[in-house]
Amino acid sequence: MSDLIREIAACRLCADRFAETATAHAPRPVPWFAPGARILVCGQAPGMRVHKAGKPFFDPSGDRLRDWMGIGPDIFYDRTRLAVLPMAFCFPGYDARGADLPPPRLCAQTWHDRVMAHLGVVPLTLLIGGYAQRWHLGVAARGGVTETVAAWRDHAPAVFPLPHPSWRNTAWLRRNPWFEAELLPLLRARVKEVLA
Ligand code: SF4
Repeated sequence: MSDLIREIAACRLCADRFAETATAHAPRPVPWFAPGARILVCGQAPGMRVHKAGKPFFDPSGDRLRDWMGIGPDIFYDRTRLAVLPMAFCFPGYDARGADLPPPRLCAQTWHDRVMAHLGVVPLTLLIGGYAQRWHLGVAARGGVTETVAAWRDHAPAVFPLPHPSWRNTAWLRRNPWFEAELLPLLRARVKEVLA
């Protein structure tokens, strides 16, 4: 385990903020990366199941993401091949409607550049959801997730913007059949290529 992973795992910067949420939970950062990874998955923040498991995408969203990528848990959880860098390393809590709160921006401001420098060049980056897309693509992601993902050819093959693989986006997937028909085959081919 690197010093940086240990440092992030010990981070408690958001303790007061999380204590004020309905779940009143303590920070539990879930850092998951190592230099030399071939794929970087930039997501939003852990949900409650990941918070409890201490393992990223250890939930149905992760199952769907692995299906999109055409890989199983054995490759996904091999840190020499795949790194996960969310916009926040901790579960942020729920809002009044029961949805996850936004990732605290402080987390990316504190850790992102250091993790990216630690990783070095990664040949394939997946940007999952609006927060990661706006952070990494800037103005190119201002139109929203649908517009950004629809413009995936502007960023591939180094970067693929994706919607969040949550069940909440099942209707989005039905409304946008080009995602499964056109984007996913190219994504799976690229994943295979960078892992070869
Ligand atoms: S979300 Fe990030 S900044 Fe906040 S406590 Fe967790 S690791 Fe630290």
